[in-house]
Amino acid sequence: MPDTSFLHWPFFEDHHRTLAADLEAWCVKNLPVDHSDVDRACKQLVASMGEAGWFTYSAIDPDDPKPLDVRALCLIRETLARYDGLADFAFAMQGLGTGCLSLFGTSEQRQWLHKTRKGEALSAFALSEPRSGSDVANMDMAAILDGNEYVLNGTKTWISNGGIADLYCVFARTGEAPGARGLSAFLVPAETIGLTVAERLEVIAPHPLATLNFKDVRVPVSNLIGDAGQGFKLSMSVLDVFRSTVGAAALGFARRALDETIGRVQNRELFGAPLFDLQMVQGHVADMALDVDAAALLVYRAAWTKDQGAPRVTREAAMAKLYATDRAQDVIDKAVQIHGGDGVKKGSVVEGLYREIRALRIYEGASDVQKVVIARQALRA
Ligand SMILES: Cc1cc2nc3c(=O)[nH]c(=O)nc-3n(C[C@H](O)[C@H](O)[C@H](O)COP(=O)(O)OP(=O)(O)OC[C@H]3O[C@@H](n4cnc5c(N)ncnc54)[C@H](O)[C@@H]3O)c2cc1C
Repeated sequence: MPDTSFLHWPFFEDHHRTLAADLEAWCVKNLPVDHSDVDRACKQLVASMGEAGWFTYSAIDPDDPKPLDVRALCLIRETLARYDGLADFAFAMQGLGTGCLSLFGTSEQRQWLHKTRKGEALSAFALSEPRSGSDVANMDMAAILDGNEYVLNGTKTWISNGGIADLYCVFARTGEAPGARGLSAFLVPAETIGLTVAERLEVIAPHPLATLNFKDVRVPVSNLIGDAGQGFKLSMSVLDVFRSTVGAAALGFARRALDETIGRVQNRELFGAPLFDLQMVQGHVADMALDVDAAALLVYRAAWTKDQGAPRVTREAAMAKLYATDRAQDVIDKAVQIHGGDGVKKGSVVEGLYREIRALRIYEGASDVQKVVIARQALRA
């Protein structure tokens, strides 16, 4: 049974506690799903989570726009991650892929949100390129204005939901100024002529991922999201909301690893006594529990601060993401160690967690980049 005492921390309101309980019950019934075909599994997850209403938290309601509830986003990611990494992934992408529309979309562009909030359309966030992952400002992809259309040419890579998404939020260079000040964001429906999947990418914890080619992809000027030249700012504002949710997913993986470990050390007999009787094992369990609580404090502090109306939570979100993902890696490694051979057995829960956690320290700003961000914020304070 997971520890739910954190739900009584002052960061939360009653509706958050109700959400956590309702989602927990849904997860028990519906997760995990079969991952053997990740595309099919993701589409099914999106449909079933849409039906259950969980995506109403992932994007604003175009008919009644209110700010996103970042604490709810974090609670949902934490809970889903505890049950099934793919369910967390599917939920996260419905928010990240539509984040620009929620924050900056026109009412026409936001019509897509009716579909994504019901799980009837899948979304993706296309920022990274072969030459510009961490170095976003070095982007090559160009968008040239031609009459009342933009023409996009270039390559995007590492795009989650690439190949199965119905809409892409794509960043390209429009050239108003050099570097980061010359980028813009576009809404590109998947069926747009010239947008093709160049390669499907396989990673250690399989998720739908692709490299995409854009060859003379034409979109109307009305598909520009926000103002031309503001794309970098838009992408950073979206990441400002969603970065702490990556920490929440890591927290969910870590909490599951701790739960599995608590079960294991009580039930496994070694040297005529439960494994838990070994003091070094108790020390590991203590470190794990401490890391989980400290990560939770940072994640929900960032989410609460954003929900209080802070325009930016760059420092809080960077700390939450860095700490929660790095410590989750360590918590899960300890869980694997304590499980002995079973910890590395293909198909065991902790083996799956060990593969799931790794990419979270790389995407949406690698751990090293978060340190740079935190150090800069500290100097500014
Ligand atoms: C599973 C997965 C899913 C992803 N999904 C998406 C997606 O949906 N959309 C999207 O646009 N992108 C996505 N990405 C791409 C991801 O954002 C990039 O991989 C990430 O930004 C790192 O870029 P890179 O891989 O090009 O590595 P590089 O930029 O080459 O960086 C390599 C390493 O260099 C170090 N480093 C980089 N910058 C600094 C710095 N300033 N200071 C110190 N060290 C530094 C870090 O250790 C970093 O990991 C995904 C990646 C993965 C692995």
